[in-house]
Amino acid sequence: PFDVLIVGGGPAGGSAAIYAARKGIRTGIVTDRFGGQILDTSTIENFISVKETQGDTLASHIRDHVERYNVDVMTAQKAKNIAKKDDYVEVELENGAVLKSKTAIITTGARWRNIGVPGEQEYKTKGVAYCPHCDGPLFEGKDVAVIGGGNSGVEAAIDLAGIVNHVTVIEFADELKADAVLQDNLYSLKNVTVIKNAATKEIHGDGTKVTGLTYTDRATNEDKYIDLDGVFVQIGLVPNTEWIDDSIEKTRMGEIIVDKKGATNVPGIFAAGDCTDSAFKQIIISMGSGATAALGAFDYLMRNK
Ligand code: FAD
Repeated sequence: PFDVLIVGGGPAGGSAAIYAARKGIRTGIVTDRFGGQILDTSTIENFISVKETQGDTLASHIRDHVERYNVDVMTAQKAKNIAKKDDYVEVELENGAVLKSKTAIITTGARWRNIGVPGEQEYKTKGVAYCPHCDGPLFEGKDVAVIGGGNSGVEAAIDLAGIVNHVTVIEFADELKADAVLQDNLYSLKNVTVIKNAATKEIHGDGTKVTGLTYTDRATNEDKYIDLDGVFVQIGLVPNTEWIDDSIEKTRMGEIIVDKKGATNVPGIFAAGDCTDSAFKQIIISMGSGATAALGAFDYLMRNK
């Protein structure tokens, strides 16, 4: 059995593995793919001390760093269940195998909910974006839309309004769902337009980048076109925790609830990164919480011989 088994091989999992392995304890990572969301990212400019890098470069650097230690890396494997059985945590894989470990760290990350209209997939990273903290500065002085008028959409719009030329917020319902203070802040901004009751129909581009968007005005059923350089889709970040049963406590949104040491409610099971209830979701934050969870697991092992 492992001392620490990490489920998920994104930045949080890689960081947890390095911190655990450096304690000289038996460490494994089992993951669907190694690298996580950064494999879908092009330029990264906020990984501190690295002014600019590409997602796949950072992923391969994390992997090299992990492989410098004695870590058992198992890729192309999906976990389908995790449970505490007597002294061990058991992780069951989709292929039927069961891995045993004294502790486990869940780092299965999250995925942005897609709007699912023509053009979205084609122009991902070519104007279609999901993370204002990450990609906002790429649209300096340009015109963008934010799809979604909930808290994350309105926060994104306020954030972007300080960087870009103009922001159009597109909300499907006939009212914004964001908190009143955020809405007040939004409506006070001069370079923001809010369009409600609008169903996004298609994201247009010229083959290399986004040029605009069509939406249907749900009151009149009329299609309308807006010229744009970017579209931020803000309709939710979904944690990859569907495979975990209710023995592990989660928020209403499915995020695993962890304490200051990254511990869940089940002794010996820890979690880190975007799959948890951490306030913000970024590479550097997920790596920090991966390190925290690994140290938390090591602390647990010392106290539970
Ligand atoms: P993830 O990166 O989601 O990794 C989770 C891993 O778990 C994946 O490898 C997945 O395959 C695996 N997994 C999932 N389910 C299972 C299962 N059941 N069994 C086994 N393995 C499983 N952040 C920044 O700081 N700067 C940026 O510029 C930036 N740009 C971004 C651009 C895009 C397009 C996206 C999508 C995200 C961006 N982010 C950026 C956010 C950042 O990528 C995430 O915060 C970070 O990757 C979270 O790391 P994580 O390890 O928690 O999860």
